[in-house]
Amino acid sequence: MTAPAPAPTGPADNDPTDAWIDAALQLGAPPEDAPALPAHLPWGLLRALPKTDLHVHLDGSLREQTLIELAAGRGVPLPSQTVEGLNALVFKRSYNNLEEYLHGFGLTCAVLQDAEALERAAYELGLDNIADGVLYAEVRFAPQLHMHGSFGFDEVLRAVDRGLRRAAAEHAASPAVAQGGLPAFRYGIVVCALRYFSGAFSRWYASLCGLFRDARDTEVFRLASLELARAAVRCRDEHAVPIVGLDLAGREDGYPAQAHREAFAHAHRHFLKKTVHAGEAYGPESIFSAITALYADRLGHGYHLFSPEACGPEISDPDEYVAQLAEFVADRRITVEVCITSNLQTNPKIERVEDHVFGRMLREKLSATLCTDNRLVSHTSVTREFALAVAAFGMDQKAVRETVTYGFKRSFYPGPYLEKRAWVRDLLRHFDRVLARFNAAQPGA
Ligand SMILES: [Zn+2]
Repeated sequence: MTAPAPAPTGPADNDPTDAWIDAALQLGAPPEDAPALPAHLPWGLLRALPKTDLHVHLDGSLREQTLIELAAGRGVPLPSQTVEGLNALVFKRSYNNLEEYLHGFGLTCAVLQDAEALERAAYELGLDNIADGVLYAEVRFAPQLHMHGSFGFDEVLRAVDRGLRRAAAEHAASPAVAQGGLPAFRYGIVVCALRYFSGAFSRWYASLCGLFRDARDTEVFRLASLELARAAVRCRDEHAVPIVGLDLAGREDGYPAQAHREAFAHAHRHFLKKTVHAGEAYGPESIFSAITALYADRLGHGYHLFSPEACGPEISDPDEYVAQLAEFVADRRITVEVCITSNLQTNPKIERVEDHVFGRMLREKLSATLCTDNRLVSHTSVTREFALAVAAFGMDQKAVRETVTYGFKRSFYPGPYLEKRAWVRDLLRHFDRVLARFNAAQPGA
């Protein structure tokens, strides 16, 4: 009797991870508004490479169709019942002013007032990230915009966690992850305190403002932030929800960081990491107070880091101040969460991507990583943000790898440091594997 022929010894195209890489490299044409890309960094490659999104707002990243369905089920009026109509009227490609930009958040927050809606939004955001090649996302939102009555902080956080966990579990069960070497999707949750709010923002804020009607605004802001920081630490510790950071969001001009000192000190004392929206619409001093008063590990936007002209009158030598601040941020590896499309939409002074300060951050070797801010409101993805940067600043494969590396290394990964190190190495190994497979398939390789 003849022995059966030996099984194939695993040619590369039987490997589920290689099959996944090949599919990811080829899947789908670039969107119509994608920039022209060089042959060494086409859209498919940028999408297939593992990436992070360290700055993505849940309430700014719903799918349009989901918003329509959730609104219909909850009696929330929308200006249009179609995806096209919503995009024409609310979620535009460009906005005339900040008010227009913020309009959509009122609609998304109005439907995200119960566990089912929050879980669905988080689940779909997880799936959309995975489809975009994002293998680590830090999803942020302001829980107090969604809380009311008995639907409290823990219920809100657990609903979002369930949604993200479900997306991660489905991805983990796919052949490329379960049997191959494709790294799993991981996530953390960042909770946002608001620099400014009024009772009109949510039922929770309305009740707080009602209780403290004779308090100064800054006192009420201080209380809300501190309560948020305390709840975040407790919920993380009691329920093992991966709350990894505290953020400060909202209007910068006129609403300084100082009112939120106690909240950020509480987070700091309990080893919760900190990121602060700073230098988005206001000058370098806002970045300085984020770092010094709020212990920021990372900066959201940080757009005005190099802007002496945006310094206030109390800075006697703006050029020197900005030079020292930028030097400090670079040397301490305080990572800047750069959101190019979002900045173009809200800052009329940035006319083209080429004018964006990310080019200078690349040249000066800052730790800066690319993020979406809002996938719906800004109609973008991490792949698209990389495409814009590659086209505008001539990034090569090495520069893309460095930017991705900053994202993984400076993430608030929800696990022990030794585990994080191994995870970063694994992700970078996968990055190199995707790149090698792409490069080997190029003519003349
Ligand atoms: Zn943001």
